[in-house]
Amino acid sequence: MHIALNKFTLDFSFCHLIKSLPQTENHAVRYACYPQGGSMRTSSKRTSSNQAIPPIKAVAPEALQLGKDARICWTTSIPFIMVHLMPLAIFWTGITWFDLGVCFTLYYARMFFITAGYHRYFAHRSYKLGRVMQFLMAAGGSTAGQKGVLWWAAHHRHHHRYSDQLEDVHSPLRGFWWSHLGWILCDRYNPTRFDLIKDFAKFPELRWIDKHWYTPAILLGAGCWALGGWPTLVVGYFLSTVLLYHGTFLVNSATHLFGQRRFATDDTSRNSMIIALLTCGEGWHNNHHHYQSTANQGFYWWEVDFSYYVLTVMSWLGLAKDLRRPPKSILTNDLLIPGQCDKGVQRVSELIALIHQDRKTTHQGSMEKTSVDTSPPGPDSAYALKEATMISATNNGYNKNPALKR
Ligand SMILES: [Zn+2]
Ligand SMILES: [Zn+2]
Repeated sequence: MHIALNKFTLDFSFCHLIKSLPQTENHAVRYACYPQGGSMRTSSKRTSSNQAIPPIKAVAPEALQLGKDARICWTTSIPFIMVHLMPLAIFWTGITWFDLGVCFTLYYARMFFITAGYHRYFAHRSYKLGRVMQFLMAAGGSTAGQKGVLWWAAHHRHHHRYSDQLEDVHSPLRGFWWSHLGWILCDRYNPTRFDLIKDFAKFPELRWIDKHWYTPAILLGAGCWALGGWPTLVVGYFLSTVLLYHGTFLVNSATHLFGQRRFATDDTSRNSMIIALLTCGEGWHNNHHHYQSTANQGFYWWEVDFSYYVLTVMSWLGLAKDLRRPPKSILTNDLLIPGQCDKGVQRVSELIALIHQDRKTTHQGSMEKTSVDTSPPGPDSAYALKEATMISATNNGYNKNPALKR
């Protein structure tokens, strides 16, 4: 059974983003958000820019349609939904300080494995591990129940390759809820993109743990039950797992919408202290998009980054080595200058304007067609387009529309 994600629109997310652009006397581009429908337009032409902004010339109409595999699949999402319902059992099991302590510990311990392991090591190779430690890091991340390490890291590499373009698997370009969890609940992105993670896919033990990612998650749940019975399982394990899901997902959704931008990256990434505290340092997402290959995402002492602190201790103990840090030049390159154009935000808003324009043109075309053709609309008609959010791809290689390449 499938239900379309037709109202996970881009409008809420990016109206907020565009409104937060710096406003000055001769600001580069002024954007307006329409109250009805939330579409937006440019109301004046760019007059100055600190960066050349590559033009986006066209969005093919077919690129705006969602494929059928990009809809929530409720049957395969049942385990994910059940995990969310399990914490409601506290009304029967009760709750103790011990269980809350287990919940807190498992949240941050597993957040470390996801951020320092799945993300900074497997997706970005920002430091080195021995083969045993590498496997332990993958197994620790698997306890979070966020699928396999190769699946996770490959999709994340794809995100960096196509950040906030139509091909991006979880850009808020398709709406907040899509970027937060919609993309996970559909079948479209289920396969592991081995082509993007060949460097780690060559290890048989990693391919095994990637395939059996649920085993460490189930073992951890069983351990919680053995430790403190049902209350520890419900609160210590399931509640922390749900919080861990959404803490991690905030990096895909909120850090492209809320917070400050220090660097003029080509995307909409932002820095947020609140999300950094919730995610062991992943909230410094604009820093990260600016320079991806560092073990630290907080670039200054006040940018709290717990995962990096732990990695530093691990390097002192010889458990990790060659932690990469940003060169000094990186800290001053591409800094955003107040009042000047933000190329990343502008690029995305231009893309959105084109999408709206394209939708409108296609809809008008369909209305004209309807006046001479009274047959019922087929599945490939513009009626389907009207219901679509955007982005289609013809296959699981995702969309590679050359017109959108920068
Ligand atoms: Zn990002
Ligand atoms: Zn990353």
